[in-house]
Amino acid sequence: MTGPEAVTGSGSEGAGAVPAAGAAAGIDGSGTGRARCVLASNPSPMTLDGTNTWVIAEPGSAEVIVVDPGPDDAEHLRRVLAAARAGGDRRVAQIVLTHGHLDHSAGAARFAAMSGAPVGALDPALRLGDEGFAPGDVLVAAGCELRVVGTPGHSPDSLSLLLEADGALLTGDTVLGRGTTVIGPDGSLGDYLRTLDELRRLAEGLRVLLPGHGPVLSDPAGVLDYYIAHRQERLDQVRAALAAGARTPAEIVAVVYADTDPAVRRAAEWSVRAQLDYLSSI
Ligand SMILES: [Zn+2]
Repeated sequence: MTGPEAVTGSGSEGAGAVPAAGAAAGIDGSGTGRARCVLASNPSPMTLDGTNTWVIAEPGSAEVIVVDPGPDDAEHLRRVLAAARAGGDRRVAQIVLTHGHLDHSAGAARFAAMSGAPVGALDPALRLGDEGFAPGDVLVAAGCELRVVGTPGHSPDSLSLLLEADGALLTGDTVLGRGTTVIGPDGSLGDYLRTLDELRRLAEGLRVLLPGHGPVLSDPAGVLDYYIAHRQERLDQVRAALAAGARTPAEIVAVVYADTDPAVRRAAEWSVRAQLDYLSSI
C-alpha cells in the first residue's frame, strides 16, 4: 500500500462534510447506463457518505469491471460481488484502483480472492496478478472501453477513467461529489493544478463525473471551474496570511481555515503544507 495509514480521500473544507440525512441512499445504486455505484458503509468527515465502488459493464455483457473495491469490509465486498453478478453469473474481469489510499484499496486483495479477478493500478505495489497499465492506455473489458487518465495531485498514483460511451469520467478522489479534495501528505499541489486544467479540457465532452465519494456530478465543466477557482482563492488567502505575518502551517490554518470543521482540521494542515510547498517552488 502506498497511502499513509490515516489518509483517506477527502475533506470538504467546510463545504458540508457531514452528509445530509438520506443522501447516502441516493448515492447507492446511482450511476449511468454502464456504471453503477455500490456505496460502502464507511462514512466520516473525510470520506463523506462513504467510498463509492463502481461496477461497470456494457448491458448484456457477461463480464464487469470493478473500480475501487473500497475498505476491507466483508459485507460491503459481498454486496459488490452480488451487484457484479447481477443475479446471474457475470464474471469480474478486472479490478481497478483509482489510487492506493486505504478507503479505496484495502478490500482489493480480499475482493480479488472472492472474484478471481486481477487488480490493476498505476502503482506496481498495488497490483495483483496483473501487469498493470499506464496513463493513456485503454482497458477493454466487459464490453466497455475505459481510458486511463493520469491525474496525479491528490496522491502521486491517482488516475481517472474515461467511460466515453456514457460521457462519464470516474474521478476517484481527484474530484469529489461534494466539497473539495484534500492534497494528502503524499500529494502535490503543482501536479493537482495541472491535473485540474487537463480535466477541465476533457470536461467539454463529458456529461457526468462519477466521484470516489459523494453523489454523481452532472455539470463537469462547472465543477472543474469551481475547483480551479477554489484553489486559486485558497492560494491567495495563504499568500495574504504570510504577508500578514503568519509563519507556521498551524498559524495559517487558524486564519485561512477558521470556518473549517475541527474534524478535518488536520487535513486543512496538510493542504496548507501542500500550498506552502507549491508557493516555494514557483
Ligand atoms: Zn485518497
